[in-house]
Amino acid sequence: QFERVGFIGLGNMGSRMADNLFKAGYSVVVHDINHDVMKAFSDKGFLTKNSPLQVAEESDAVITMLPSSAHVMDVYTGPEGILNRGDQVRSRLFIDSSTIDPQTSRKLSAAIASQLNGGSAMLDAPVSGGILSAENGTLTFMVGGSEEAYRSARPLFLSMGKNVIYCGGPGNGSAAKICNNLAMAVSMLGVSEAFSLGQSLGIGAATLTEIFNSSSARCWSSNTYNPVPGVMEGVPASRNYDGGFATKLMAKDLNLAATSAKEVGARSPMTSSAQKIFTELCDGGYEKKDFSCVFRHYFHGKDE
Ligand code: NAD
Repeated sequence: QFERVGFIGLGNMGSRMADNLFKAGYSVVVHDINHDVMKAFSDKGFLTKNSPLQVAEESDAVITMLPSSAHVMDVYTGPEGILNRGDQVRSRLFIDSSTIDPQTSRKLSAAIASQLNGGSAMLDAPVSGGILSAENGTLTFMVGGSEEAYRSARPLFLSMGKNVIYCGGPGNGSAAKICNNLAMAVSMLGVSEAFSLGQSLGIGAATLTEIFNSSSARCWSSNTYNPVPGVMEGVPASRNYDGGFATKLMAKDLNLAATSAKEVGARSPMTSSAQKIFTELCDGGYEKKDFSCVFRHYFHGKDE
């Protein structure tokens, strides 16, 4: 149904997602404010455009993968934004895969419905999985918006990911994403604190890991992404916390969760604690390290 797909935001994630769409046979039209990135895509044979509006004029669907809410709003409502000349826009489906707050996703969905020609739909579809999953096409998409639009977009999602979960109306994909990352942050803090206490009490992390993973404390942070150096191979903890999911991105996602919780009046003591700890790590110079570095740099754990 969609032959030509627009892609805006060709950073760590977006560049790889656009490559996978291209490999799946779509004609992909791209835009990024970074000229070096645009040149690289032009050299690879992609059609490049100088503004988001030009991308929307040329494509059947547009996907955005941008750092934050402000960038997404700029791409839609800025001077060269998609909504600025709605009459020129050919695209009928807009997918935002950036991690942003659900309130902004809902605002954008309403703006698209009211300012573009009838039949235009918006899906908020953030992803779980990092750069490697983006590269391998194994991302998980959490999708909010109309079910009809979700169904029509499934082939697009499946060319970039392997799991696509429909979450309900507008903003629900964004809500799912920030809730997922909140739970991930808290579980990482929980196991890191426990491993650190365990070491101080004389029980090493390797032994505790074995116990957790066959007991009720088992979780992703203990059995897949263990934060203690040397306990598990192939995870950031075992390569000086390089690569993986940057502490600054975790701090950003916790800020989104905190803002959203405040807006709806939800109790969020764990969000506040996690937000404070990950912000402190960023201020301490660890913003580019994987977020599991909280074990070493906050709890002062020692290598086994
Ligand atoms: P990134 O900073 O590497 O890339 C963002 C790209 O957007 C850059 O190339 C930048 O030049 C471009 N950009 C910024 N403003 C623009 C504008 N107004 N118009 C056009 N292009 C613009 O970010 P990323 O790591 O690719 O992450 C993108 C989103 O995905 C974020 O919301 C992030 O939270 C989320 N996410 C990231 C990861 C990860 O592991 N990196 C995992 C899951 C979700």
